[in-house]
Amino acid sequence: MQAAVLYSAKDLRVEQRQEPSAGAKQVKVKVEWAGICGSDLHAYLHGLALEAHPLGGQQPPFALGHEFSGTIVEVGDGVTKYAAGDRVAIEPLLYCGDCYACSRGDYNQCMKVGFVGLHRDGGFAEYVVVDEYMLHRLPDEVSFEEGALIEPAAVSFYAVRESKLKAGDSVAIFGAGPIGLLTLLAAKAAGAMKLIVVDLSDERLQKAKELGATAVINGNEENIAGKIIALSNGGVNVAYECAGAQATMTNAVASLRQGGQVMTLAVFMKPVSIDMGQIMFKAADVTATLAYRHVFPEVIGMVAAGRLDVKSVITKKIGLNQIVEEGFEQLIQDVKQAKILVRPSQD
Ligand SMILES: [Zn+2]
Ligand SMILES: [Zn+2]
Repeated sequence: MQAAVLYSAKDLRVEQRQEPSAGAKQVKVKVEWAGICGSDLHAYLHGLALEAHPLGGQQPPFALGHEFSGTIVEVGDGVTKYAAGDRVAIEPLLYCGDCYACSRGDYNQCMKVGFVGLHRDGGFAEYVVVDEYMLHRLPDEVSFEEGALIEPAAVSFYAVRESKLKAGDSVAIFGAGPIGLLTLLAAKAAGAMKLIVVDLSDERLQKAKELGATAVINGNEENIAGKIIALSNGGVNVAYECAGAQATMTNAVASLRQGGQVMTLAVFMKPVSIDMGQIMFKAADVTATLAYRHVFPEVIGMVAAGRLDVKSVITKKIGLNQIVEEGFEQLIQDVKQAKILVRPSQD
């Protein structure tokens, strides 16, 4: 079978690999669609660790890809709830099951947390083997394309659920990449009244408008926080930080109203400073979420009901052979791209 394997920084090879087979409590999935994520891009630009992950059980290099849907083609011993032919989305988290966080059910905060597609072979391959616990059935109303978007949508949906947002609130979203756009959709579904999106690219902001932003602000403008405060009649209740930079964090804090919250979804590459005087004066809080837990069924249900239009963030669909030039390189060079989906199957 064909797979896109990351050997080192900028060395992603589409190559022939042996088809995997399902072990006990595992299934073999024919991958239908797989999305390219910001963390895949980061791995592509900087390379991955050279040691095996404690829960991955596999020596690198790996096939990337952790946002994918597929059809089960084979089940291993002890699989009880799924059968060949089932349409599924995969929740790709690896966790130990017995650390402090896991014992409380908070598996996304596991001390050893990892991901299929970053810490063992993932979905940029014709076939992948995953554990039965990672599977979520897709109803007929949810397409395989939408199925590949359940994972990133779960990141945004979980952050919105964990945030202080109440129906009728005003929110600001910093960053209009795929996670920012999915956060916009999730906040809209949760009943936010004003949805203000900030990004450096007018093309991305145009997309945000199409998806329901009530106002957009280009990040190159002066006095961004002042504009947000004016648009939201005194500041937003929640600012979602989906950009991960000092300037966006500073503006997120400055745009809050009294009692507001900065909910961080971005991965920060370096520490940022926060004006604690403002946090104190506003009795605001700054918090973060990592991935998601216990929300895949709800996200799938919202998509099935037409209340979370995740397919609207797809900007391009390609085959596995095009993944380097038309996928990864395109995402680095072309800010218009939001989510690019890859179809590994030859048929
Ligand atoms: Zn991702
Ligand atoms: Zn654990």
